[in-house]
Amino acid sequence: MRAPADRVRIRGARTHNLRNVDLDLPRDALVVFTGISGSGKSSLAFGTLYAEAQRRYFESVSPYARRLIDQIAVPDVDSIEGLPPAVALQQHSGAASARSTLGSVTTVANLLRMLYSRAGDYPRGQPMLHAEDFSANTPQGACSHCHGLGRVYEVTEAAMVPDTSLSIRDRAIVAWPPAWHGQNLRDILVTLGHDVDSPWCKLPKKTRDWILYTDEQPTVPVYAGFTPAETRRALRRKMEPSYMGTFTGVRRHVLQSFRTSHSALMKKRAARFMSASACPVCHGRRLQAAALGVTFAGLDIFAFGELSLNDLSSRLRRSRSPARSAPDVDEKRLVANRIIDSLLDRIATLQRLGLGYLAPNRATPSLSPGELQRVRLGTQLRSNLFGVVYVLDEPTAGLHPADTEALLDSLQQLKDAGNSLFVIEHDLEVMRRADWLVEVGPGAGQDGGRVLYSGPPGGLRAVADSATRPYLFAPTVPMARTPRPPQGWLKLKNVTRNNLHRLDVAIPLRVLTVVTGVSGAGKSSLVSAALPELLAERVAGQKVPTQEEVTDEPPAATPDLTQGMIDDGADAVQRLVAVDQKPIGRTPRSNLATYTGLFDAVRRLFAATPAAKSRRYSAGRFSFNVEAGRCSGCAGEGFVTIELLFMPSVYAPCPVCHGARYNPETLKIRFQDRNIAEVLALSVDEACRFFEGFPAIQRPLQLLQDIGLGYVSLGQPTTEFSGGEAQRVKLATELQRLSRGGTLYVIDEPTAGLHPADIDKLMRQLQALIDAGNTVVVAEHDMRVAAEADWIIDLGPEAGDAGGTVVAVGTPQDIVRQPLSRTARYLAPLIALAPPSVPGRTAIGR
Ligand code: ADP
Ligand code: ADP
Ligand code: ZN
Ligand code: ZN
Repeated sequence: MRAPADRVRIRGARTHNLRNVDLDLPRDALVVFTGISGSGKSSLAFGTLYAEAQRRYFESVSPYARRLIDQIAVPDVDSIEGLPPAVALQQHSGAASARSTLGSVTTVANLLRMLYSRAGDYPRGQPMLHAEDFSANTPQGACSHCHGLGRVYEVTEAAMVPDTSLSIRDRAIVAWPPAWHGQNLRDILVTLGHDVDSPWCKLPKKTRDWILYTDEQPTVPVYAGFTPAETRRALRRKMEPSYMGTFTGVRRHVLQSFRTSHSALMKKRAARFMSASACPVCHGRRLQAAALGVTFAGLDIFAFGELSLNDLSSRLRRSRSPARSAPDVDEKRLVANRIIDSLLDRIATLQRLGLGYLAPNRATPSLSPGELQRVRLGTQLRSNLFGVVYVLDEPTAGLHPADTEALLDSLQQLKDAGNSLFVIEHDLEVMRRADWLVEVGPGAGQDGGRVLYSGPPGGLRAVADSATRPYLFAPTVPMARTPRPPQGWLKLKNVTRNNLHRLDVAIPLRVLTVVTGVSGAGKSSLVSAALPELLAERVAGQKVPTQEEVTDEPPAATPDLTQGMIDDGADAVQRLVAVDQKPIGRTPRSNLATYTGLFDAVRRLFAATPAAKSRRYSAGRFSFNVEAGRCSGCAGEGFVTIELLFMPSVYAPCPVCHGARYNPETLKIRFQDRNIAEVLALSVDEACRFFEGFPAIQRPLQLLQDIGLGYVSLGQPTTEFSGGEAQRVKLATELQRLSRGGTLYVIDEPTAGLHPADIDKLMRQLQALIDAGNTVVVAEHDMRVAAEADWIIDLGPEAGDAGGTVVAVGTPQDIVRQPLSRTARYLAPLIALAPPSVPGRTAIGR
């Protein structure tokens, strides 16, 4: 029997942990998938429904594309009927290009260029420019000095030669290539008659400058292994050289390897010696002088694109001339009005999604994943597609409850246009507003994978197994916990960073502080940037990665760091730990077991077995990074790369070890009944049972379980973790260190991707950290987390330039009495039943 036209009918879904799931979903509806983390929501929504839609799409395009199908995962499912074409809006989908901006992905930039071309004010006598002339991504538009980058790279002597007391022979020039190539360059200098044995600082400036900055590339005879004296003699006698060598100046070498190297490592190495500064010709504005001479509303196009969308929209509104189609209205005005209307329309869509504080020039890689997903959603709202299903992954990530309303309106708009929405979501408000709710569970991994409920949200009330039920139908959760009193204050003064301007704020010590505020208010700027940056100078601890380290771009000459100071309290902080959502590790050689350190203990157990001892296998033998034990076919990677012409290369399991990563001799060793590869395949939950009685291994495993990672396998490469998972792995790794207190933990939105039941577990861990004498500061929009805080710092009142100030501080009970706080309204229901706190505790610090 065929599915009725208004249903999507799934039979026998078995992707990942799904247990032969049969499910009927309504079309043209908002369907929300919920369940604890690891239960199988993504396996259902993305791994099955979206993957199948994608597979059908590929199959329909061309026979050629069929070859690609092998590369995308084919869902394990008997049948799916009634499935519309799908568009996925995931949070993490590939690295955006460094040149892509908010404006370029939303087409706002296109319209701005048209506006400037057709309706801009040109300097007297200048001919009209085309829209492309206003783009820094076209050869005719880009500033010819910096090629449209807006900055130029400098390679300074200090970076190339950090220690001038060393001689060239002693590797004074650190920017030179290592090994043979470096020796070669040194030998060439000897041939050229330069002194390579005196300290660098003793060389004449002319010589130093030539070696560093010359663009000449002389080719000269090289006498490898000769001393300078022997070389001179050989040259005089015109002896046969070892070979002819070509010299390259140090700066030239650095720039060349940065530009042309295909190896990320080489690029990174080169970037270390470079610093970026604003282009002296365009002053960072990226465009040719002609384009920058054209203005609209008094600003050049670069300055216009630096304005927030909110600002932009009010300026455009002011510039729009009254709509009158009288014949005497000139053409230019009519055109301007039309373009302005399109712009306003597009900007309004983004504003409704809570993105009005962003500027069109903002580089997309600097957007948070949640912001990026909403930007994509915004572009879809304008696409006029209908009859498709949008698959979304936690669209409320990073959203304050006040912003969630607008998001729901946008989803409604897509639905009204005749589309279906499949949304993975943990936000209770979104679940309540769903047309249809699917809960997957009851547990994670092996213990999940079943559909517990599928129907209108109200019906979940009758499902006893549901992890969501207690939260969705609880009247309000009374948080009767009495806030802990602060044990001192960390006082930050004059903090300036992004939208924070000379902010004074005091952070209480040895308590849980939650920083709240609408999206874009400045929470991350305070918690993830300013606080760690200011503290890093004062205390040891985890190095704070700056934004530059995440990309392969050279650092800016004047890095955009925090200004301000710590006025008091820094002495009470012995260690700083910033637990962020940045991906862990770039190499698939790092996995959950190695990252958390528990693999060391596992390998020692294997080395201690009688079989291993008799063969004299050490613990190192059980590492796939060590030659003795690993598979030689894939060097321990478990897969091999197959390069395809014209297509991205694909990975295939290693034909020798079939993914086991080890050689057969190593796999012969068993601990209890499993070999090392089989142990890596265990989930954390399974491993916890398997290592019963080995506390050194069990303890870190239990911590991973406690924060909702029980479903992850020990061998899962760290590169495959989602942002939220990566953050929880880092947190668990931190939790297992015996903390003596005095540590300050800063955590940005730890609840991302977590079901309320998982959040409860996480909160128990955070509360335990505080009970052990530590301080925890989190940026968070989840009101249940805020209600559990000892102290709240509410930023705002709005986003961007309209934010960045402290609207209210105090205990949760204090906050709900603050009329100006946008958080108060959403927090109030959760703490309505709590006793009022001591009056007059709303001052900052004391
Ligand atoms: P949720 O979205 O509910 O958090 P997932 O669907 O991501 O859960 O995961 C459900 C189960 O499937 C987990 O046990 C997880 O480890 C497993 N799983 C997820 N992705 C993969 C994959 N690519 N390969 C194998 N197993 C996977
Ligand atoms: P929240 O964490 O409250 O959502 P953020 O601290 O991320 O807010 O952002 C506060 C303001 O700072 C916003 O206007 C945002 O656009 C701006 N901002 C944040 N990060 C950057 C950045 N890397 N470059 C430029 N502006 C930024
Ligand atoms: Zn320039
Ligand atoms: Zn192999």
